[in-house]
Amino acid sequence: MSPPLLQVNDLKKHFPVNRGLFGRKSEWVYAVDGVSFEIARGETLSLVGESGCGKSTVGRAILRLFDVTSGQVILDGQRIDDAHPSTMRQLRQRMQVVFQDPFSSLNPRMRVRDILAEPIRNFGLAKSAADLETRVTTLMDTVRLPREALNRRPHEFSGGQRQRIGIARALAAEPELIVCDEAVSALDVSVKAQIVNLLQDLQREFGLALLFISHDLAIVEHMTHRVAVMYLGKIVEVAPRREIFAAPRHPYTKALLSAVPLPEPGAQRNPIILKGDVPSPINPPSGCRFHTRCPYVFDRCRTEEPLLRSAESEQWVACHLDALPAG
Ligand code: SF4
Repeated sequence: MSPPLLQVNDLKKHFPVNRGLFGRKSEWVYAVDGVSFEIARGETLSLVGESGCGKSTVGRAILRLFDVTSGQVILDGQRIDDAHPSTMRQLRQRMQVVFQDPFSSLNPRMRVRDILAEPIRNFGLAKSAADLETRVTTLMDTVRLPREALNRRPHEFSGGQRQRIGIARALAAEPELIVCDEAVSALDVSVKAQIVNLLQDLQREFGLALLFISHDLAIVEHMTHRVAVMYLGKIVEVAPRREIFAAPRHPYTKALLSAVPLPEPGAQRNPIILKGDVPSPINPPSGCRFHTRCPYVFDRCRTEEPLLRSAESEQWVACHLDALPAG
């Protein structure tokens, strides 16, 4: 088996809050608290969970948008988390991002031509002015936008078209990994499907790995290879798409999936309504972090943290139960 493109090992990111008197850090938000996973070349791993679970923080830590508290992020054998700025420049070319909001992630004053040319110039990819022009026009073809639109500015496009420009800008750097951070969440349903189809086509064409961060499991079900479920800063289950949607092993995964509509008209899952709110990441519960809301909680859950363990060949779960009760 070839080594993974991306490895994340025991990643932690704690943010200080309530600096208090004299700038003292009195509390910490445990936004990401020991997360590990891998992504193979050409694979899509979806990182899912409710808002505030830490999934976007994982994405930003991988892109080194801030320094991590501890742990390792390794791209093709090279450490990102402690990379020297000169190494980081090369690594940045190899991993790009598509953000949620195409309205704010594109510079409104720049023409599309300049938006796409910027990363090509920054990373020194074009051999000549003619090569730069060819690359920019080819990118428009690749994301299925008309070449005539190169001289327009972002506000002249629809939301879906703007997200195509965002994808083209990411592709301009010729990356191996793209972090899609809620990349389709702000779009209408039909446009979402078009952008997801485009991402899948691009993945096949260029062998891209995708970290697809989303709270929308209905979209994830149709486009991912594997799913990692996060709750309060930790991964509670990782499995191939088919396995996790057919037979979730973690009570939280089961509750999340119960809210996903079935494709057959009129068909319904039995929705599982969880008690209470998600606890604060400033003071997460002891033992299993899900124990305050879990329908199957027992004594051990309150004191002992369940570690991610292999349940099936490729299905990993962090729960003290050997199997979920039927029903
Ligand atoms: Fe529920 Fe206990 Fe499993 Fe946590 S470890 S998910 S509380 S059964």
